[in-house]
Order: sequence, then structure tokens, then C-alpha cells
Amino acid sequence: MVTIKSPREIELLKEAGNIVYKTHQYIKPFIKPGITTKEIDKLCEDFIIKQGATPSFKGCEGFPNAVCTSVNNVVIHGIPSNYKLKDGDIISIDIGACIKGYHGDSAWSYEVGNVNDDDKYLLKHTELALYEGIKEARAGNRIGDIGYAVENYANKYNLGIVREFVGHGVGRSVHEDPNVPNYGNKGQGLLLKKGMVIAIEPMLTFGDEEIDMDDDGFNVVTTDNSKAAHYEHTIAITDGDPIILTGEIKNGKE
Ligand code: MG
Ligand code: MG
Repeated sequence: MVTIKSPREIELLKEAGNIVYKTHQYIKPFIKPGITTKEIDKLCEDFIIKQGATPSFKGCEGFPNAVCTSVNNVVIHGIPSNYKLKDGDIISIDIGACIKGYHGDSAWSYEVGNVNDDDKYLLKHTELALYEGIKEARAGNRIGDIGYAVENYANKYNLGIVREFVGHGVGRSVHEDPNVPNYGNKGQGLLLKKGMVIAIEPMLTFGDEEIDMDDDGFNVVTTDNSKAAHYEHTIAITDGDPIILTGEIKNGKE
């Protein structure tokens, strides 16, 4: 069921989203060669708890850690481990936090040390694909308008779209209706209304679109081993521009 959030609920979602945003800002300087993904997870978890919140993903469908750390060819749901980040890696960190019963959800991809131009291209254009989707997230448009914008942008820059995983509603549960695919047709799908809160999250690859699941049942990897990026914001639909609950508009897209 797709729910419409009251202004009071939007304020609580903003509070949760802000904790997620602050956690990303906090972890950013630690993302350097030599740190393990488990250490990143622990730092994020401690920070979230210090804010009076709880990590949304811990225990969510059996996920064992606080945040997802997806390195290189891992698209999403990477389980933190003893892997030490290396110069030239890219890492997507997906953070969820819950406070007063409401969640925020945002993923961001980061460069580790010096990354090559292809990876810079992948990160830049996946981030911009997210903002293309966000621009369409307004009352009167439809879910398909968001997916179309993301897909169209990814196609333009020759990036593969992971289709098996999609964005979602956010509220009292970190994953709720509706599904928000990163592909679609203009003018089709659910009508967007003021007060809906959704996570838009393009997962783009530098190779083809095929994915596999690792044996651990969580790590989603690209079949051709190409690198993948993941950018996500939780946003509230209004009659005008959407409110980004988990951060700030970047890259002059305001
Ligand atoms: Mg997420
Ligand atoms: Mg999400």
C-alpha cells in the first residue's frame, strides 16, 4: 500500500534522513586505502547510535551488519568484511537510519585513493542519473517518468542499468510500496502525489546489465566483473520541487 505522509511525518522522515546524510559526511574522510569494510561498518553504526537512531538494515531480511559496503564489481548489499580497501577501488556505501519509528535511506559511491578515468565517469554519471530521476519526482507525474529519466540518461552515457533491484517507498518501514524502477515509460505507472516519500536509487554498471548473487546470499555482483555505482536519496514529493530528505543537491543541479 502506498501511503501519503502528513507534514509531521515528513518532519520525522527529514530527521531520519538528516542522520543518514550526516553519517555519509562522517564516514567520507575514512574512505582510504587500508581501512576494512568492517571498520567502515562499525564507524557508521557507532555514529548512527550516537545520534539516537538505529541502523535500518541491521537484521533487515537477515542482513548481518549496519551498512552495506559494495566494492568494485559488487553492485549492492555488500557485506562488510576484512577486505582492506585498495588504491583505485570504488565503494558504494548504503546507509539507513531509523529514529522515532521513521527511516532514511541513502547510498553513495566513493573513490578510494586514485581511481581511473572510467571509474570517475561511472560515478559522475550515476550520480547525475539520480538527479535526472529526482527532477521528475513531483505531484502529477508518474513513476514511469522517473524511470524513463534515469534510463534515458544511462543510455545516453552508455551505462548498464541493473533492473532486478529498484527504488521504493520509505516511511515507518525502510522498504515499502511503491517500487521505483530505474527504467520506464513516460506517463505510465503510479500517479505521484504530494506527501509520498520514495527512495530513488540508480545502480549503473560500466559493462553489461547482467548480475549474479554471491554464495553468501547478499552480495549482488556484475556477471562480467565490470564495476558498478549506486547513488540514492530519499525524497518527499511536493507540488513543486521534491524535498531531498537525505542530503543536499550537488553538482549545480538545483
Ligand atoms: Mg539504500
Ligand atoms: Mg533503498
